[in-house]
Amino acid sequence: MGGTFDPVHHGHLVAASEAQSRFALDEVIFVPTGTPWQKSDRTVSPSEHRYLMTVIATASNPGFSVSRVDIDRGGQTYTVDTLRDLREAYPDAELFFITGADALEQILSWHQADELFTLAHFIGVNRPGYHLDDEHLPRGSVSLMEVPAMAISSTDCRVRVAGGKPVWYLVPDGVVQYISKTGLYAADDG
Ligand code: ATP
Ligand code: MG
Repeated sequence: MGGTFDPVHHGHLVAASEAQSRFALDEVIFVPTGTPWQKSDRTVSPSEHRYLMTVIATASNPGFSVSRVDIDRGGQTYTVDTLRDLREAYPDAELFFITGADALEQILSWHQADELFTLAHFIGVNRPGYHLDDEHLPRGSVSLMEVPAMAISSTDCRVRVAGGKPVWYLVPDGVVQYISKTGLYAADDG
């Protein structure tokens, strides 16, 4: 499961857990993205912070792990590179790529999408506020599944922290504490 995880929240964790159970996955590997060289629409937090929060959030689950492939490659992350690196690390595994409705839509519009579907089977999960249409999906390469709806986004968590609002119960307890300890997302002027 790829993501920016800035920060990781319970929407990510529920989606991963449901996909793991439904597809009998041995392991769900969370893969935090690299930090883009150029700023796009916003500044993404340093990758080590996002990596550590993802480790904290997944540490208690023996079926969850975190990979550094995208962070160590650096720069903008392309899903095709993620899947190639994971294939190299797990040559005998059957790979699935878990993604939310919004992210799947972006992947499908990518010009080399066909190649991606040879590297992994894609699992698209519903996400409140986004609708996925079966019709446009390549047959046999993508499965859509319903997960318990969690109307949580990392953007909303960052805005809440900057506004002095709590993120308890939106993100795991250890992540709340990590954010507070490091001052991540705090408004500059306090
Ligand atoms: P941001 O608001 O910064 O974009 P985000 O909440 O969308 O953050 P990402 O790290 O961008 O989180 O998402 C990683 C993956 O998790 C994406 O495939 C995304 O669609 C999926 N995802 C994120 N939030 C949810 C949610 N609440 N329910 C289901 N899937 C989700
Ligand atoms: Mg997102």
